[in-house]
Amino acid sequence: MKKLTFILLTVFGLLVSCNDKTEYLDCKTPVCTILLQPYDKTAGKYAEDVSKTLKERIESMDYICVQDVKLLPIKQLPNTLLNQAKTRYRATKILDFQKQNHHKIHHVIIGVTSSDISTSTRGHQDYGIQGQAYLGQENCVVSTYRLKNKKDLWKLMTHEFFHAFMHMPHCPADDPTCIMQDGHGKPNWTKRTKICNKCLGYDAQ
Ligand SMILES: [Zn+2]
Ligand SMILES: [Zn+2]
Repeated sequence: MKKLTFILLTVFGLLVSCNDKTEYLDCKTPVCTILLQPYDKTAGKYAEDVSKTLKERIESMDYICVQDVKLLPIKQLPNTLLNQAKTRYRATKILDFQKQNHHKIHHVIIGVTSSDISTSTRGHQDYGIQGQAYLGQENCVVSTYRLKNKKDLWKLMTHEFFHAFMHMPHCPADDPTCIMQDGHGKPNWTKRTKICNKCLGYDAQ
């Protein structure tokens, strides 16, 4: 009887480990969960739309596995995150604000706002932008304010996500069809449909 129990346990153990293995094989590493944090009603609507397809879209880039995309309840951004002129939110202040609520590793926060956001770049102290990420810190923010075609929001999110989670820099090939191309102040999302082989490391740099 003891022997049978041992065999049964062994078989069970094998089944469990096989299942684990299959999961890893199906799932390209690294694995993460995406948290969409909307900061107003309009952003909440956009975030909800994107949440339905973001996992499949990111995984179709043939790079990583997304465990889940969770839509968080709408939160109000405090006025202390505004710029000096109180006209738009400072992107880095939003990122620092998000960091306070960031407790789990491999949980990537994407803040979403319909308000204008800005940062210090390209020789300007307060330059309006569409998104910003802390490289490799699983923390990024996007704004729909300067996004002409709202259908491209998933591309903007994917761009910031790759900065934030994969520590991926801008496209070394400056490929206009690559989602990771630097916007050069005026990103054309319509042309961007994929992540190029250079960004994925398939081509020698
Ligand atoms: Zn690229
Ligand atoms: Zn970028």
